[in-house]
Amino acid sequence: MEDILVKIDEYIWQLPKNYKGCMLVPGRLYLNDKLVEQLEKEVLEQVANVACLPGIQKYSLAMPDCHYGYGFCIGGVAAFDEEDGVISPGGVGFDINCGVRLIRTNLTREEVQPFIKELVKTLFRNIPSGLGSKGKIKLSMGEIDDVLEEGVYWAIKNGYGWKKDVKYIEENGCIKNADASLVSDSAKKRGLPQLGSLGSGNHFLEIQYVDEVFDDRVAKVYGVEKDQVLVMIHSGSRGLGHQICADYLRYMEKAARKYGIKLPDRQLACAPINSEEGIRYFKAMNCGANYAWTNRQLITHWVRESFEDVLRIPAEDLEMDIIYDVAHNIAKREVHKVDGKLKRLMVHRKGATRSFGPGCEDIPSKYESVGQPIILPGDMGSASYLMHGTERAMEETFGSTAHGAGRVLSRAKAVKIYSSKEIKSKLESMGIYVMADSKGVLAEECPEAYKDIDIVADIVHNIGISMKVCRMKPIGVIKG
Ligand code: 5GP
Ligand code: MN
Ligand code: MN
Repeated sequence: MEDILVKIDEYIWQLPKNYKGCMLVPGRLYLNDKLVEQLEKEVLEQVANVACLPGIQKYSLAMPDCHYGYGFCIGGVAAFDEEDGVISPGGVGFDINCGVRLIRTNLTREEVQPFIKELVKTLFRNIPSGLGSKGKIKLSMGEIDDVLEEGVYWAIKNGYGWKKDVKYIEENGCIKNADASLVSDSAKKRGLPQLGSLGSGNHFLEIQYVDEVFDDRVAKVYGVEKDQVLVMIHSGSRGLGHQICADYLRYMEKAARKYGIKLPDRQLACAPINSEEGIRYFKAMNCGANYAWTNRQLITHWVRESFEDVLRIPAEDLEMDIIYDVAHNIAKREVHKVDGKLKRLMVHRKGATRSFGPGCEDIPSKYESVGQPIILPGDMGSASYLMHGTERAMEETFGSTAHGAGRVLSRAKAVKIYSSKEIKSKLESMGIYVMADSKGVLAEECPEAYKDIDIVADIVHNIGISMKVCRMKPIGVIKG
């Protein structure tokens, strides 16, 4: 790879425009030397292919946690001009608005430790998890339309959460321009029974403690301190988002032909942003996003109930507020500076997190002086990070940063090398209590299957596209 990529700076690598004839802009990858050595060839191809799509601005980007994905690589960011650019389901991913939510408590690690097993067991019982897992609420087809358009407001109205919760969710948990009539009945049918469930594999619920604080000032604003217990939720839009993506991929393939868009890869099927097809996908995708935020909201409600059950203290008294909830699979209309001029863009973040800096609109007023919180999960055995958004990200990456550690081993490879039983006892010997729904999941998801989160956090921190606030370590994990 070192012979193809040009080193621009310690952690910035350029994929030249002449790498592929159709590239309209160069690629940019944020990696250290070792990650460059390990980079999959397919990721380079994907970064180059995205650079060929009409209306792309500045660079086709890949974050340090990048790895092979459908069409766009995971960890890919690309922004397209609203006038002549495209929107692509492959740039969002199948799990629309897969994302992470971080909830605080006023408990210390010491206070929680004696209850950890009971807490994990109670959470496991109260929050449906696993492949095809079903939620506990019964919805009608009419009600699901409300979920798709009202998002978290629907949940709060129905008693799942606190009024103030919406303030600490990206888009307040209800993105505009969502039209439920553009979501197929089959997508809704898949979504109906699954609302309020974790899902399987990479999705998780974790009890963590703050192991190290890097920035006291920002930590204070976010309401976190050393040894404090936090709860992290990683889930998305379940079968509903998957079906929306599948439905629209077929539709977008036709649209690409209709508008004469030459696709370097069929998986990059897309349509002009302002075409009928583009607008329809956008509005359906936003429904998927609202479903995912509602899903994480219901899970939050049962997390609070579980803590209440075990500790016999009301969640309000445990101060279980949401620190933040971020999407990492989404395309959004945003305004960014390009060549000194403000431009309206469609920013695709596929396994990448928004990283809006201090003073930006669209971040909670409480956090305005320090930038938005960014939640960077690592893996179930090592650590996760809380970071903050920066001005540098606004200039360099359309306000984006990494979304996690990123995979190094495929699921198939991981299960060949590791056994779930072995992983469970190893984690237990490290003081991490794990429960999993599916049999092979602990091997598929073992710490060795992911990159080193400390390295990913260091890279984005050193470039300045998001800055470390604190690092958390797991003590209880639920895997789907
Ligand atoms: P993705 O949405 O791309 O599947 O996952 C996001 C990130 O979550 C992964 O890149 C990985 O670093 C992280 N992750 C996956 N499983 C776990 C887990 O059990 N615990 C924690 N803390 N992070 C995880
Ligand atoms: Mn995810
Ligand atoms: Mn997901």
